[in-house]
Amino acid sequence: MFKVNGDYLNLQGSYLFSDIAKKVAAFTEANPDKKIIRLGIGDVTQPLCPVVIKALHDAVDEMAVKETFRGYAPDLGYDFLRNAIVEKVYKKLGAVVYADEVFVSDGAKSDSGNIQEIFSRDSRIAVCDPVYPVYVDTNVMGGRSGEYDAAAGVFKNIIYMPCTEANDFAPDFPDEIPDVIYLCFPNNPTGSAITKDRLQQWVDYARKNKAVIIYDAAYEAYISEKDVPHSIYECEGARECAIEIRSFSKNAGFTGTRLGYTIVPKDIKDENGVTLNSLWARRHGTKFNGTPYIIQRAGEAVLSDEGQRETAEQVAYYMNNAKYIYEGLKGAGYKVFGGVNAPYIWLKTPDGMTSWEFFDFLLEKANVVGTPGSGFGKSGEGYFRLTAFGTYENTVEAIDRIKRI
Ligand SMILES: *Cc1c(COP(=O)(O)O)cnc(C)c1O
Repeated sequence: MFKVNGDYLNLQGSYLFSDIAKKVAAFTEANPDKKIIRLGIGDVTQPLCPVVIKALHDAVDEMAVKETFRGYAPDLGYDFLRNAIVEKVYKKLGAVVYADEVFVSDGAKSDSGNIQEIFSRDSRIAVCDPVYPVYVDTNVMGGRSGEYDAAAGVFKNIIYMPCTEANDFAPDFPDEIPDVIYLCFPNNPTGSAITKDRLQQWVDYARKNKAVIIYDAAYEAYISEKDVPHSIYECEGARECAIEIRSFSKNAGFTGTRLGYTIVPKDIKDENGVTLNSLWARRHGTKFNGTPYIIQRAGEAVLSDEGQRETAEQVAYYMNNAKYIYEGLKGAGYKVFGGVNAPYIWLKTPDGMTSWEFFDFLLEKANVVGTPGSGFGKSGEGYFRLTAFGTYENTVEAIDRIKRI
């Protein structure tokens, strides 16, 4: 008789969005005349920009011609895109990254989930709490969780680093030294950012303790403040201890087309001189089918000057929504965070409500759907996430309704 991987049975949070969907469906059935506005999901709504559409069409046409037809893509990505990433993303920041350290993928969810495979089973993992659930869940799937403590809502072998108002939603160094540290800034779900000085301290900490930082920079394009770093490689010594994960989803609307990449510097070596770069190349080459040529050409277009201009307009559109949400709620007396360097607003639930109580309250009174903070971890209890990815019209209507409660 086959046996299942029992660690899956302890996975938390995987039902968050289906729980939300069920509640919304029940409400809609009972109130068919009410117009629900969804500010809960982390998906974009603006269509792909013109320069991307043109690149897609051109690449499709190439596929119809014998001389330019392409078969299997190189496992690690086409040179034109890997080179463009080095030139247009990292050189601009004064950061040293080489083309053979760029691994093109189908997005940051896969990479941030799969990267744990190149670390030993007994590695100690540290994550922020609240957290993007993929980091914890994939380490559980990888057999690294230890027992689940149901009463505390935590896995024994995972180190949780609380992110609260007290530390501006950027973690303190944990009591116990981890081997692998997941950081995501600007952050989903809290919308918080980290200063360059603080990130440098994390890099120093990782080097001192021979740990690796996995830095998820999916929201880099939303940074508006000057002292917030766009890449961890702006920090000294990061090439020896940090992997950076990037995505075209949130900056260019590729959530449906799928494109991302991960930087694994060759300077990260274990005690025997084995590079993580060689392991990730092996893993990627064996288990990943490569991103389609057509999509990689579209990514190259995003990095062109015209692409940068057009996608910046989309980011500005969402950030205008973020500002409306932030200021509207603040004016209505809510305690709000985020929204300045990220398309997420993290609000403290009023009157001591739990995250789910506030979810029901908002659905009932304003017909607005958000995401309960407790779904992202223990420290998210008493908080609530709203996203700026809706249309401006819906965002305005939703906030105006909340203000009238
Ligand atoms: C949206 C998101 C991603 C996923 O990006 P894809 O490239 O679409 O897979 C990764 N990390 C965080 C924190 C995100 O919010």
